[in-house]
Amino acid sequence: MATLGNPGNTIAIIQKYQFAFQKKFGQNFLIDPHVLDKIIQAAEITREDCVLEIGPGIGTMTQYLAEHARHVVAVEIDANLIPILGETLAEYDNVTVLNQDILKTDIQGLVDTYNAGKPIKVAANLPYYITTPIIMGLFESRVPIDNITIMVQKEVAERMQAGPGSKDYGALSLAVQYYAEPYLVANVPPNCFIPRPGVGSAVIRLTRHKEPPVKTRDEKLLFRLIRASFNQRRKTLQNGLNNSPEIPFTKEQISAAIQKLGLPAAVRGEALTLEQFAALADELSRLKDSQE
Ligand code: SAM
Repeated sequence: MATLGNPGNTIAIIQKYQFAFQKKFGQNFLIDPHVLDKIIQAAEITREDCVLEIGPGIGTMTQYLAEHARHVVAVEIDANLIPILGETLAEYDNVTVLNQDILKTDIQGLVDTYNAGKPIKVAANLPYYITTPIIMGLFESRVPIDNITIMVQKEVAERMQAGPGSKDYGALSLAVQYYAEPYLVANVPPNCFIPRPGVGSAVIRLTRHKEPPVKTRDEKLLFRLIRASFNQRRKTLQNGLNNSPEIPFTKEQISAAIQKLGLPAAVRGEALTLEQFAALADELSRLKDSQE
């Protein structure tokens, strides 16, 4: 089987199987070998590694991964792609293809079965419509992961990397940076895919922190504060938190906590660092404990 990472071989396979692209599954197949090389290099995949690939499509990246990793588990939702993967991956005895929805997959079970519970790597040209649930699901489930190297929409990559004061900074930046260290690997233009997506793309690597960069008494409260602060971006932090049904504190308590951190009363959420959000969560959590 010829390698797929070029237009000619990809079109030949699509025609042979009369494959009809499904927009609802975010199907844009990679046809650029340079981009595939960059993904493999950035993910630092070695013969020791077990890699989870989300959405293998016709198996383009899967072939590259199988060449470099010990084992690849590829989870694909579209049943029409399974016979194609049977052909394109026939030469590899280190690939397991599963026809299922990644959002309903027991990933910890896969880690236990295929990597004896040790940390895996995740690689994917993601279906863009479910980027955030996939990534947050991977982080929040606490499945052991070394790094996640993924193609995402360019704007999403920028949001993941952004810091306070930038227009791209928001709940996604803080959530991703709480769990991982982001590194932008490459920008990828639409002509590297069939069919061409309507948006620019980027490869980003998220290296999982061993320990979160901030310690907090109440992680759930920290994430609630972050969500509430950016839900009403133009409001002051105090008003944003006060208007949120998720935040069980009075206006006075919120105001006192903000003051205690030495922040101006009119500060907006978008000015706070992760450390400051964690300090605010701790302040409010202490207040709650003292009242119980
Ligand atoms: N990896 C291939 C490549 O780079 O050419 C295909 C990438 S394409 C952007 C996204 C793939 O994810 C498609 O094959 C699509 O069918 C699959 N997909 C979409 N939603 C999925 C889900 N919920 N679970 C698993 N796979 C999914």
